[in-house]
Formats: sequence, structure tokens, C-alpha cells
Amino acid sequence: MKILVTGGAGFIGSALIRHIIAHTEDSVVNVDKLTYAGNLDSLGEASSSPRYAFAHVDICDGSALKRVFDIHEPDAVMHLAAESHVDRSIDGPAAFIETNIVGTYILLETCRFYWQDLDAERKGFFRFHHISTDEVYGDLEGPGALFTETTPYAPSSPYSASKASSDHLVRAWHRTYGLPTLVSNCSNNYGPYHFPEKLIPHMILNALHGKPLPVYGNGQQVRDWLYVEDHARALYRVVTAGEVGETYNIGGHNEKRNLEVVETLCELLEEMAPENPHSRANREGGFRSLITFVKDRPGHDLRYAIDASKIERTLGWKPEESFESGLRKTVAWYLENESWWRKKGSDPF
Ligand code: NAD
Repeated sequence: MKILVTGGAGFIGSALIRHIIAHTEDSVVNVDKLTYAGNLDSLGEASSSPRYAFAHVDICDGSALKRVFDIHEPDAVMHLAAESHVDRSIDGPAAFIETNIVGTYILLETCRFYWQDLDAERKGFFRFHHISTDEVYGDLEGPGALFTETTPYAPSSPYSASKASSDHLVRAWHRTYGLPTLVSNCSNNYGPYHFPEKLIPHMILNALHGKPLPVYGNGQQVRDWLYVEDHARALYRVVTAGEVGETYNIGGHNEKRNLEVVETLCELLEEMAPENPHSRANREGGFRSLITFVKDRPGHDLRYAIDASKIERTLGWKPEESFESGLRKTVAWYLENESWWRKKGSDPF
């Protein structure tokens, strides 16, 4: 297959491309605008493969997108390009409306016209896989409740509302035009190459630099964490084996309170970076003493948790990484890859 991946220079898109190049015989064309969140260094060795190509294109630019389709003739599209940071969506929602909603619409239309003209065999084979988030479901009530694929949408932030809108567009293009679509909704990802504005890398890097570790509200918000490479495997499983028109929830069975995540990171850093000037060996209270509670984010959902039994049952996917092993790998990666996070745009210091 030739797979067109949008947003392949981002956190999850780059993990997906590294997975496809390393573990399959498929080719990839990476369509990315390279916003502040895009970094081609995240592709690693995959970018030198003869099965990899890059197109510097904004998904809102329909004619540039059409040229990419004409040149590369993909068999599948995996759509990850998005504005993805909730705090930025609160400060400036316009880019979220533009890329996540209008961009998805333009990509769907480009796909539809391309797909309509394919011969019968390639037409039957073609897939459009839209990658979305569990945040579209809003807040969960009660400690035992889980999001399933039929949970009604109730997004809370401009980010999650824009993703919910794009999910609806994708389903409408399937229902109305017959475009062979798949949707997956995933919980919070973590792992290597994560842009330092997001919770886990932000805390690791602030701790290493002796800066405050800002925890929203009382830190009791619960998120379900999935190691990014487990997500990449799940996405490839969905696009190659998923049933057209279906939705798959993807989660890691790792429900953790934000404060617990930050405290665990502090303990890992005590163990893995004891020579750091802010560790317990060198400063009273160590990394934990940097934790500070800050005013909560407006509209902050209290709890997200995914029921991933459908993808496990029907496609045989399960996460391989536990939260403990994944977090350890992540901390080790940030300790060893300073040159990546110091690169333009991602250096927070
Ligand atoms: P990211 O912000 O790290 O990467 C987004 C990528 O999209 C960047 O490379 C950026 O340059 C590119 N991009 C942005 N606007 C574009 C445009 N107009 N045209 C072309 N490229 C553009 O995001 P991520 O964390 O890798 O998330 C990828 C997808 O997965 C998003 O759709 C997000 O909603 C979804 N998702 C993320 C998480 C998570 O925890 N990170 C969880 C569930 C779902």
C-alpha cells in the first residue's frame, strides 16, 4: 500500500510513520504544513527510506492537496494533521476551526473526487482513516463509567469541539457519498518526540531545569494514558483490518490522576538523574518540591477513560506497554535527546 499520512511530522504521526517504515513493506507520503508542532527530525531513520516521501502542504490548500494525490496515488489516507493543544485552543480558537474543521472538509472533498475516479478494484480497497480523540465525549460521571463508541458527543473545549465537528464530517461523507471511512478515538498519548508544551514532557523538562511544575487545580483530573507506539500499532491495525464505517476507541487501561503522574515523574527523575542539581541528593525535597498548584483551566473535564474492548475483540489489538515501563522509557528518551527538544520551536528554555 501507499499511505498518505497527514500531520506526519507531529508526535503521533511521526510514530506512525516510523512504525510503518520499520515494520511493514508499505510506502508513506507525509503531508505536513510544519506548524510549530511539526518537526521532521522526529521521523528519524524513516525519512531516509526510499519508501518515504514528504510534501510540505497545508491541508486547507485544496489545489496543493490535489497535486499530491495526483502524483502519489495513495491507497489509503490516515488523517492526523490538527491543531492539538487544548490551552492554545482556549487562547486562540481560530486555527483550530481552520485546520481541524475546514482542513478536514477540504481533505475529505479531495479524497472523494480522487476516490470516485479510481478503477473498481482500487476503489474497493481505498480507506480514509480519521484519527480523533476521546475528548469529544466530554466529562465522565462516576468512577466506573467508560467511553464506548456509542457514548454521545459532549465536547468541552474549542479543541474537542473542533475534533467532534471533524468526526461528524467524516461520518457524513461515508453516509452521504459512500467514502470508505474509519474513525478512531484515542486517549492521552505519551512517549518520545512529544512537543514540550504537553503535560509529561513539560514536567520532565521543567524539573530538570529547576522550574515550577504547574499542576492545574487540585491535580485530581483523571486521564487514561497510552504509549504512543502502542497507538501507532493500533492505527495501522484499524486502517488495514477495520470495518468501513466503524469507529474504534483506543485506550491504554492506565487511568491516572494528573498529580499522580507528576509525582511518578519526580520519583523516576530522582532515580534516573540523581546528579541533577534539583534532585533530592542536591536540594531539600528534590524534584517534588517544585510542584505548584495553579488556577484550573476553564472548562477542564474531570475524568476521561476509554473502553477499548471493541478493538481488542474485533481486531486483536492490545497495548504492550504498561504505564510504568512506558514512562520510564519516556524519561530516558528526554534525558538522552536534548538536541531534539532544544531544536527551534520546541526548546522551552
Ligand atoms: P501534534 O500537534 O504533535 O502534530 C500535528 C501535526 O499536524 C504537526 O506536524 C503539524 O505541523 C501538522 N499540521 C497542523 N496543521 C496542519 C495543516 N493545516 N496542514 C498540514 N499539517 C498540519 O499532534 P499529535 O499529538 O501528533 O496528534 C495527532 C492527531 O491525533 C490529532 O488529530 C489529535 O487530535 C489526535 N489525538 C492526539 C492525542 C494526544 O494525546 N496527543 C490523543 C488522541 C488523539
